[in-house]
Amino acid sequence: MNNPKEEKTFLMIKPDGVRKGLIGEVIKRVEQRDLKIVALEMFQPTREDIDSHYPKDEKWMKRLGEKTLATYEKYGYDAKKELGTENPLEIGKQVRKWLIDFMTSAPMVRMVIQGVHAIDMVRKIVGPTMPSDADMGTIRGDFSVDSPALANREKRAIQNLVHASENPEEAKHEIDYWFKGRKSFEYKRFGVDN
Ligand code: ADP
Repeated sequence: MNNPKEEKTFLMIKPDGVRKGLIGEVIKRVEQRDLKIVALEMFQPTREDIDSHYPKDEKWMKRLGEKTLATYEKYGYDAKKELGTENPLEIGKQVRKWLIDFMTSAPMVRMVIQGVHAIDMVRKIVGPTMPSDADMGTIRGDFSVDSPALANREKRAIQNLVHASENPEEAKHEIDYWFKGRKSFEYKRFGVDN
């Protein structure tokens, strides 16, 4: 990698993205931004695989629980009645389990993407977590309509088509984890690397 801001990030097409036939669309949107796919594979994860992918620390689970509680508050739902607790950590643990159910429900596609500001660029292409907050023109804004209110009522994770690393530490961890011991490919893209 020559440019100081050139970096690698990790993107995964979730089961809903694969089942909606959006593999090509996701790849197209990455490539059209002059980002380079340097590793790519379809795979079926086990529950253990996903369990190790998402952080287990209390801070992360609490944050997930707090986001879920905020949704309940926004829509006037009673978290205690529906989830049996108002404790953010306990709720975060429940959401984490829903995520494991969801992420093992069909094959996924994983890839490593390289380019200038690749981490932020890919997050921008993907859009924010909640489809209703995602602008048109982002993958989540254009192709998903799920609502946290509905998902939480049905006790399942938000289906938002893709996962992408949020920061350099997460990118490194996720690339190392999902492409363990395997090298990314090197090649020059026309018009980008010449
Ligand atoms: P992102 O995937 O945008 O990085 P997070 O790391 O916050 O978002 O959450 C991981 C995944 O957990 C989300 O992509 C989504 O599928 C699911 N999720 C997040 N918050 C909720 C919630 N309140 N209810 C159900 N699922 C959620």
